[in-house]
Parts: sequence; C-alpha cells; structure tokens
Amino acid sequence: MRTQRLRCDNSGPACRLPCAINWLIGNARLRRPNLVPDPHRMPDQHHESPSTAFVAVVGAGPAGLMAAEVLSRAGVRVDVFDAMPSAGRKFLLAGIGGMNITHSEPLDAFVGRYGARRETLAPLIGRLGPEALREWVHGLGIGTFVGSSGRVFPTGMKAAPLLRAWLRRLREAGVRLHMRHRWVGWNGSTDALHALRFETPEGERVVLADAVVLATGGGSWPRLGSDGTWVPLLAARGVEVAPLKPSNCGFDANWSAFFQERFAGQPVKSVAIGVACSEDGAAPPFRQGEFVVTQTGIEGSLVYALSAPIRDAIEADGAATIWLDLAPGWSAQRVAEALMRPRGARSMSSHLQSKLHITGVKLGLLRECLSKDEFADLARLALAIKALPLRLTGVRPIDEAISSAGGVAFEALDEDLMAERLPGVFCAGEMLDWEAPTGGYLLTACFASGAAAGRGVLEYLARGSRDRSDS
Ligand SMILES: Cc1cc2nc3c(=O)[nH]c(=O)nc-3n(C[C@H](O)[C@H](O)[C@H](O)COP(=O)(O)OP(=O)(O)OC[C@H]3O[C@@H](n4cnc5c(N)ncnc54)[C@H](O)[C@@H]3O)c2cc1C
Repeated sequence: MRTQRLRCDNSGPACRLPCAINWLIGNARLRRPNLVPDPHRMPDQHHESPSTAFVAVVGAGPAGLMAAEVLSRAGVRVDVFDAMPSAGRKFLLAGIGGMNITHSEPLDAFVGRYGARRETLAPLIGRLGPEALREWVHGLGIGTFVGSSGRVFPTGMKAAPLLRAWLRRLREAGVRLHMRHRWVGWNGSTDALHALRFETPEGERVVLADAVVLATGGGSWPRLGSDGTWVPLLAARGVEVAPLKPSNCGFDANWSAFFQERFAGQPVKSVAIGVACSEDGAAPPFRQGEFVVTQTGIEGSLVYALSAPIRDAIEADGAATIWLDLAPGWSAQRVAEALMRPRGARSMSSHLQSKLHITGVKLGLLRECLSKDEFADLARLALAIKALPLRLTGVRPIDEAISSAGGVAFEALDEDLMAERLPGVFCAGEMLDWEAPTGGYLLTACFASGAAAGRGVLEYLARGSRDRSDS
C-alpha cells in the first residue's frame, strides 16, 4: 500500500489554516493512510474514497472540536456527533460569567494545579499549553488579555464569538457536524469497535469509522449535554471508569433560619480558608479569596479551589470542618490587641466594627458559629476571628458543580489516550479522570487532551497503514 506524506505548507486543501498551530498535529511523521474498504460499512456512510480515513468524534465540546481540528488539518475526514441541538453548550455557558480560557502563571505552577494528575497531563500541556492556546485563539481572530488574577480571557470575555469563528473554520476545513445524534453504544451485529450506534430524531443510525474519539464530557450541568451516560457503555467494554463526582462545587452548612434569611446571596471578602487534611488535624496554610453564602451553605471561587479536599473529607467522614480567617490581613496578635482596647458602653458588634472593620456577613458568621459565651469571651473571640470553625455537612449535587472529577482512568489508556481494551477508540477532555480548580485549567486540559487524542488517532491510522504496507 502507498502512503502519502503530509506537509503543512498552507498550500493544499487540507492545510488552508495558518501555520501558527503546527504544534497541533506535530511534525511531518503523519501519513495519510490508505484503508481497505470495510465490508461492514453502512450504505449511508459517506466514505466514498478508500484512500481517505474517516474518523468519528463524539462530543462537540472543546475537547472533541480540538480533536476534529487536528484531524482535519492532517487531511483526515472527520464527522462530529453530539446529542444536543447545537455545539459547545457548556463552553458557551462558561463564557457567560467571563470565560478564563487559560492562566498566565509559569508552566511549572500551572501543571501543579492538576494535583495527582500533574505528571500525566504535563506532556499534553507541554504540547498545547497556555501560550500556544493564546496563539490559537488569536488565530481565530480573537484577542486575549491577562486579568489582574493572572487568568487569561478572550477579548470581551465571551465564548460565543470564539466558538462561532472556530466552527466556521472547522466547517471550511471539511468537518461535518451532526447534532441530535446521541451515541448509545456499539453495534452488536458487527465485531467492529468503530461501529457506533446513534439515536437521532429520524431513528437509530449506525456509523462506521476507521477510528473514534470520545469526548463526551464529565457529569456536571447535565442539561447542557454532558450527562455521563457514556459511563456504563465504556465500563461494559472493560474500560476502567472512576465514578463521576462533583468538583469545583459548593457545600451545605446547616445554616440557622435567621442566618439563611439574612445573609444568603452575600459575598464574604476578603477571607481566607484553611482545610484540615493531615492526619494530625493540623490546618494547612490558609488560602485567601472570596466566597458566597448560599441558602444551603457556601460556594464561589475560593470554595471551588478547595473543593477536592473538602469533598473527600465529607465523603470519608460524613462532614468536614473548615476554618475561616475573617481578618486575613491581620496577625493574631494584632487582632487580640485591637479587641482588648477599651470599648466603653459600645456593644461588641460596634467594637468589632470600629476596631477590626468586622461587620455584616462576617459578623453574622461569628454569631452563627460561636456560642453566646464564646462571642462574649474576648480571648476566644480573637482566636475565632483568625480561625472560625465552620462545619460542612454535605457536597452539593454534581448537577450544580462547575466540573466533575472521576472518569476514564488514565491507566486504561495508552500514552496517546487510546483505550487499551478498545483499539482505535480514544478519549479526551473532562471525561478523563483528572480535576483542577477554575481559572482556565479546565479548558486548557480539555483542549490539550483533545489535541493529543487527535494526534493519537493520526499515529494509529498511520500505524495501520504501515502494517498493511508491510504485509
Ligand atoms: C458554569 C460553568 C462555567 C465554567 N467556566 C469555565 C472557565 O471559565 N474556564 C474553564 O477553564 N472552564 C470552565 N468551565 C468548565 C469547562 O466548560 C468544561 O471543563 C469543558 O467544557 C469540558 O469540555 P469537554 O469537551 O470535555 O466536554 P463538554 O464541553 O461537556 O462537551 C461534551 C459534549 O459531549 C456531548 N455528549 C455527551 N454525551 C453524549 C452522547 N452519548 N452522545 C453524543 N454526544 C454526547 C455533550 O452534548 C457535549 O456537547 C465551566 C463550566 C461551567 C459549567
């Protein structure tokens, strides 16, 4: 069999896009595979030319679309299938509150945000990290800027213009999108791992592909499409999948009716939170930021950043205690000295307000979490201002979480993200078992793993082509 070397020289129809994203497909080790026509190919399949590979991508979120981009740039025919009526719904939602696409901190600190999965994700992010991602966004005609927190936003902070430009570019490159196509498993009537069954408004459809990328997302915000219904499908095929759990989520706190009514919806800032996670119960360093009091408990960026250890503690013990530092700019000694100053006829609340600027929801938290006696005892009150224990009794449901933890175990995949038990089936995005805080780390890992899965498919197809040439 003949193999044709692909070059990215911006001259051929497969390469009409700027060369700025050469990193997407890597160097010229890619080959266009010549494939033997599949006797099982369905009549509705548009795979007319046996010299062109056809790849099915399931999931039109950032990970799936990035895989499609890598593949289409390499000249492979790609169709993207999604259960929803339109593409990238969660991506669009992420843009509503101001989407951070990535983060500008140094790469070493950046990959540290993936915790236990740091070593696994580092090579993928090394290929498509924060800088390359910004360059890629610029290639779509959208500017980026770095916010004061170091987070990187697209100009206008919206996802819609970016998604529109991206989909237009993908379509121009020949990628076809099939919406309202829910993947429901493999076709039992053939042995092929690449015979995918889809439920569509017109009935069931089977699609045969030369390779498959699954990028079906995690389990949060299921009404946007990623509902985790893929979990039993992969598990039934022997692929190890860790249960999906809420990540970047809120927690329940058993507020009193008074506190709930008075303070729900109020932001607490500036504040720091410590979470005890060591065996001796010692609190690790406090992390500063802000959170919001909700009807049922707490949520917001600072809580999300600490959600993994809090969630795990609640899972293990049924409840977890966190410590709030309500005066993060003050040393414990300075707080104690300020409190000990004479207060005359002033109430304790006025004293706290005038000496420590503690008022409103912060004052409410002190009253909520301390007994009357503790609140009246200046020494204990001073300690509580620097480390107020707040008992959290539950994790908010995955439906409300920004993202999910759990998913396809990396141990079930090879280094190209191909499932060891399902040759030719690759997985990418939030459906993989990693988690990270908000701040652009989620999208970066989705883009990077989507690109890696696309490159993996190219390598797989090239390998198949080489094997056929040799035999
Ligand atoms: C409110 C909110 C704000 C966020 N803000 C940010 C942010 O600012 N920065 C950041 O980095 N991240 C943010 N995220 C997270 C980010 O949006 C996700 O991590 C990312 O979209 C995941 O990409 P994905 O491609 O893996 O999956 P998804 O975007 O979830 O896409 C998966 C796709 O697969 C489809 N699908 C699922 N199952 C099937 C099936 N069986 N058949 C066919 N199709 C299927 C779904 O319809 C969906 O379109 C936010 C998330 C939320 C909810």
